[in-house]
Amino acid sequence: MEFTSPEGEHKYAALVRAADRAVVGLDFDGTLAPIVDDPERAHIHAEAGDVLVDLADVVAAVAVITGRPARQALDLGGLEAVGNTIGDHGKELYLFGQYGNERWSSTRRRIVSPRPPQGLATFLRDLPRTLRNADAADAWVEDKGLAHAVHTRRMADPDAAFQRLLGPLRDLADRNGLVLEPGRNVIEVRAPGMDKGRAVEALVEEVGAGAFLFAGDDLGDVEAFEAVAALAKEGMPTLLVCSASDEVSALAERADVVVRGPEGVLDLLRRLTADARSS
Ligand SMILES: [Mg+2]
Repeated sequence: MEFTSPEGEHKYAALVRAADRAVVGLDFDGTLAPIVDDPERAHIHAEAGDVLVDLADVVAAVAVITGRPARQALDLGGLEAVGNTIGDHGKELYLFGQYGNERWSSTRRRIVSPRPPQGLATFLRDLPRTLRNADAADAWVEDKGLAHAVHTRRMADPDAAFQRLLGPLRDLADRNGLVLEPGRNVIEVRAPGMDKGRAVEALVEEVGAGAFLFAGDDLGDVEAFEAVAALAKEGMPTLLVCSASDEVSALAERADVVVRGPEGVLDLLRRLTADARSS
């Protein structure tokens, strides 16, 4: 792992000292689960469950904060079993799905979800035409319930298709009162008013967090980074971790620590657990 500055190292030390009051927020894809071509075949890193259970013992709470539907993340992550073990230790695992629109926790054990946003039906009606007009009729559209994601990664030239689609999809989303979230060869359209930053704020309030670590890898994590940076400004010990890959490192320059993919994230969490235990 690589601290981006001496300040990053100091921030890590401060977080270790405040570990028992800390919330650890973790993105799923690219952070806990290696990126794969087919998002439906993503799988949490084999050692993640054990690392999260150990970590939960030394911090206030652990939360997975993802753009995926909560049900999907629970299944792909084996998170119900992980939550059971964490619960047995008297701690809690939180899951925020669809950027915080859906909530689950290991004590509540039920996914709480709002209704699909109003403009979504009209958006979907006009979507095929928009795709055709952008020469992207064969893009894969994933139904996530409260959101829809247009994937270009299986297309002949994913980057070119992504660029052709970005403007037209943004217009269509705007017209229907929805917001657009670009990712890696994927453009997601969803209800406004919820992002990972709000999820961070909700956690701080619910758990009464006195410190915060967030790790992410992608553009969808920017709002969470900003929310944590705001907590740091108020004097809270925080650590921002970028899980870097060859594909994208949009967060690297905002991070205190840059690690190499899920493997690096888990190493950092193991080190944090060990350092918190011995401090
Ligand atoms: Mg990610």
